[in-house]
Amino acid sequence: MGSCLCDGCVGFLWRGFSSTGKGAQLRKHIDATLAVDFFNQVNLLYGTLTEFCTPENCPTMTAGPKYEYRWADGVQIKKPIEVSAPKYVEYLMDWIESQLDDESIFPQKLGAPFPPNFREVVKTIFKRLFRVYAHIYHSHFQKIVSLKEEAHLNTCFKHFILFTCEFVLIDKKELAPLQELIESIIVPY
Ligand SMILES: [Zn+2]
Repeated sequence: MGSCLCDGCVGFLWRGFSSTGKGAQLRKHIDATLAVDFFNQVNLLYGTLTEFCTPENCPTMTAGPKYEYRWADGVQIKKPIEVSAPKYVEYLMDWIESQLDDESIFPQKLGAPFPPNFREVVKTIFKRLFRVYAHIYHSHFQKIVSLKEEAHLNTCFKHFILFTCEFVLIDKKELAPLQELIESIIVPY
């Protein structure tokens, strides 16, 4: 792994911590902080595309011709529904925000206990954030280039993917829509 110490990569520093007791507690605090950072990055990146990612241009949430996502949160919407990409991203970001704001999942106070399903929630957050990247790369990359956001997008995605791979936060099959790009990021390390 590289020695980048940006916000997105600082999590690597915690690799040495044990997975039990205080170390695990600290690790979770770092994960929680980074989840917020990664969420904000995706929010800002997608925010530059809102006038282009419309229900007319993107009637379904896709990541290239082979992958289509349907929305379900498992609570209010149990059966996956087909919605436009902007609606999907809206549902997705609202869902993540509600998780991050939920003190029983992401306690704000240092030392407060994390729930037993904490890792599962974090994994779902990262899986869903990945889908926004996959949609941006497949459907809006030319627009990103014309907005001169390309380098920024690539940097954000690189940090995101190094972090998720390091801590095995996303299943391999979920990463398939951006497989080649991911291999070009992972191989040099
Ligand atoms: Zn779109």
